[in-house]
Amino acid sequence: MTTIFKFGGASIKDAEAIRHLGELLNRLETRPRTIVISAMGKTTNALEALLAAARHGDESDYRHQLEALRRDHLATVESLFGASGGSVAERVETLLEELDECHRQHRGDDRPHHYDQTICYGELLSTTIVSAWLNEIGVDNDWYDARQLIVTDANHQAANVDWAKTSQRLKTLEGEPLVVTQGFIGGTADGDSTTLGREGSDFSAAIIAHCLGASEVVIWKDVPGLFNADPRRFDNARQLMQISYHEAIELAWLGAKVIHPKTLAPLRERQIPLKVRSFKALDAPHSVISARGDDDAMPACILAEEQVLLEIQPRDFSFMDEARQLDALGRLVDAGLHANLIDSSAMRLSLCLDAHPERLEPLVESLDADYALTRHDDLTLLSVRHPTQALLDSLSKGRAHLVERRNREVAQRLFHSNDCPETWHIPD
Ligand code: ADP
Ligand code: ASP
Ligand code: MG
Repeated sequence: MTTIFKFGGASIKDAEAIRHLGELLNRLETRPRTIVISAMGKTTNALEALLAAARHGDESDYRHQLEALRRDHLATVESLFGASGGSVAERVETLLEELDECHRQHRGDDRPHHYDQTICYGELLSTTIVSAWLNEIGVDNDWYDARQLIVTDANHQAANVDWAKTSQRLKTLEGEPLVVTQGFIGGTADGDSTTLGREGSDFSAAIIAHCLGASEVVIWKDVPGLFNADPRRFDNARQLMQISYHEAIELAWLGAKVIHPKTLAPLRERQIPLKVRSFKALDAPHSVISARGDDDAMPACILAEEQVLLEIQPRDFSFMDEARQLDALGRLVDAGLHANLIDSSAMRLSLCLDAHPERLEPLVESLDADYALTRHDDLTLLSVRHPTQALLDSLSKGRAHLVERRNREVAQRLFHSNDCPETWHIPD
């Protein structure tokens, strides 16, 4: 049985969480083959803020933020290892010096390249600490640099995997004891760091499982499984115990944040089941995503918040025909954005997008130069899979929507966020 585990940021957010992870591994009857780990807590956001400070040339802000990262990681080392943590602390210091050097070296590069050379340090730091801690408590493992295992192209921030080369590299791990490595990051054949897209660690686990022909992947979350709505936002969300790869891809694509959408295809291809389990409650029944879809028909609700609607119209009262749609969507792709909803009429194309400032502003500027552009901010998109009219009406509760899009499988409504409740309820 070859099992791949993936632990996300929440499961290793501080020393206590890392201790808990160690206990969890010691309580399990079988050890995994490989453990894929994200950056600690919100470190990736902190690294993005550091990148912004580096690019704006704000030296004192940059130093201040780098010092905060150093302090937090060293505090975790100190709490875990106490006086015996000298060598781990040294490795953490070395990584942070490398990070600082990378910022110096890549400050003038285009942003996606600079991003990948520096954001990868979140995972390098976390795995250094967790791997050392596991060895300390007797879970013997070897640390591997995923930039040398997951080979990608140079499409920075959304790198594409070179499956043949990655398989070759991963095959060299066969026969090795427990491997601990980073999620989210990879490297080009000539040694540049790359990233697979935010929240991409689930995808890393799937890549490794696919290439090693693993028997299962377990992603450990702060929830016991996949639900028919985010249990944090819906007070009566129900757990989906058995769902198919296809249904899981549809939910992830609509924005169910619990699994990165790219995770499912490599697993489906080899029929490797994906289990979603709680690191908080080992005995809680977990969800399984496989070829079997017992719960596929259950209506599911997905919220995407902080949305922006762009209404794009030709300036000369002509049609927003296919050629113009192609042009506008081409600019969207070039900006590295994904439309969560697309709607069109004779003279308008409407796109609902995540309010991603670094990517959105250049797109808005480009469209504004050639089209009449209307922009609406602070929106929430509700997507309902397998909708019924009663369900939609009840969730909308008389709130006006700006756009509605519907087909047999999905209904989407876009609301002003300040009209939306803090906690949602799915009617029985
Ligand atoms: P990780 O630590 O692996 O990055 P995430 O925070 O990305 O984990 O995913 C877990 C969170 O996903 C949960 O805390 C939950 O609030 C949220 N979530 C959103 N949609 C769903 C859903 N449909 N089912 C379960 N959890 C969901
Ligand atoms: N650390 C990365 C992120 O926060 C990848 C991941 O957690 O999956 O996006
Ligand atoms: Mg995540």
